[in-house]
Amino acid sequence: MSHYDYIIIGAGAAGLLLADALGKEEFFASKSILVLDKDNKTKNDRTWCFWERGNGPFDDLIHKTWDNIYVGGHQLQKSTSIAPYTYKMLRGIDFYNHFLPKVKAYPNITWVQEEVTGIQEQENQVLVTTSSQNFIGQTVFSSLYDPTLPLKQKDFPVLQQHFVGWQIKTEQSVFNAREATFMDFSVPQKGNTRFMYVLPISDTEALVEYTLFLEHLLEKSEYEKAIKTYIKEKYNNTNYTIQETEFGSIPMTCYPFHRHNTNRLFNIGIAGGWAKPSTGYTFYNTSQYVPKLVAYLKTGKPLSEFHQKSRFLFYDTLLLDILYESNHLGHEIFESMFKRRKASLILKFLENETNLWEELKIVTAPKPMPFIRALFKRLF
Ligand SMILES: Cc1cc2nc3c(=O)[nH]c(=O)nc-3n(C[C@H](O)[C@H](O)[C@H](O)COP(=O)(O)OP(=O)(O)OC[C@H]3O[C@@H](n4cnc5c(N)ncnc54)[C@H](O)[C@@H]3O)c2cc1C
Repeated sequence: MSHYDYIIIGAGAAGLLLADALGKEEFFASKSILVLDKDNKTKNDRTWCFWERGNGPFDDLIHKTWDNIYVGGHQLQKSTSIAPYTYKMLRGIDFYNHFLPKVKAYPNITWVQEEVTGIQEQENQVLVTTSSQNFIGQTVFSSLYDPTLPLKQKDFPVLQQHFVGWQIKTEQSVFNAREATFMDFSVPQKGNTRFMYVLPISDTEALVEYTLFLEHLLEKSEYEKAIKTYIKEKYNNTNYTIQETEFGSIPMTCYPFHRHNTNRLFNIGIAGGWAKPSTGYTFYNTSQYVPKLVAYLKTGKPLSEFHQKSRFLFYDTLLLDILYESNHLGHEIFESMFKRRKASLILKFLENETNLWEELKIVTAPKPMPFIRALFKRLF
């Protein structure tokens, strides 16, 4: 049986960023590290978008950027700059093609492509079982998300940000490649929070996604029908071909995933609760968490105590309470925020970077009653 100081399960966003961060640090050069994934990461299985100020560490891999966004809905059609932020698109395949060979090249890192079938914490080590062998890790970082965990409790509602996206190529020039459609609530809401998200790469190419913030998933055909209708109505019934498709279902919950971390078994990425509860955005958070985790590892303090408290969890909790109880209010809340406040301020807020004064401005933009009701319900 092979022994490692660290085993990283999952070579996705969190696993690869963590492996790279450990691999390049002299401090960890004497540590043996195993990275395990069931997949060889050669497919473009997702597209990550995030916003940041100015230049960032992934700029060389970025596929497309936008300085303007559009937010639309029943009473809003707003095209706006997001300066000082830039909205950036990173294709999964470009990320994997960059980081996987880099990680494999570190002399102290071993890569094994196998499916993990069991993780068992023992007294002084963790046993990781794959379909064909066992590994022992002193510390294991796992990105295996168990969706049943948050569903076993009732304190924190669990919604999903779920979507189907089509990367399409149109015959006519129909897209404005300088502007990303962040949220378009003009689609029928059907009592839920439903919107279109459009990322134009050129005037004839875009990723068009039908997205919901809702507890239950839809039939695949329902997402597809909504995308077809939107393209037909919004883009002059243009002919198009579908080049790629993607599907995602990201947990939206304030459930304290970190409580499952122990000193030897630590969950990372979505499994560790690194997704922003009220939006599902995870990539940027992950890129911020990893260096903090690595710095913490160097201190030798107990891993189970590594947890970032944030007052933004309070806002996320209220919004999710509202959307869980009254899912139809989503479009009204987001529309009024974007109508009354600058998009850059909202992005700053969603990135957990605002100060209390700015947060007051944001939370007073939508109608207050649902928030007051949610607050009272939480308190009493
Ligand atoms: C289609 C899609 C689009 C998204 N778009 C965005 C976006 O625009 N912005 C954003 O911030 N977030 C986005 N997200 C959410 C989030 O950023 C991603 O899901 C991100 O990849 C999560 O990182 P992770 O490391 O937790 O999980 P993953 O990147 O999914 O990595 C998990 C890894 O574990 C491996 N694995 C799973 N089971 C096993 C097993 N039993 N044994 C071995 N290996 C296993 C998988 O193959 C995978 O490589 C998107 C998600 C999806 C699915």
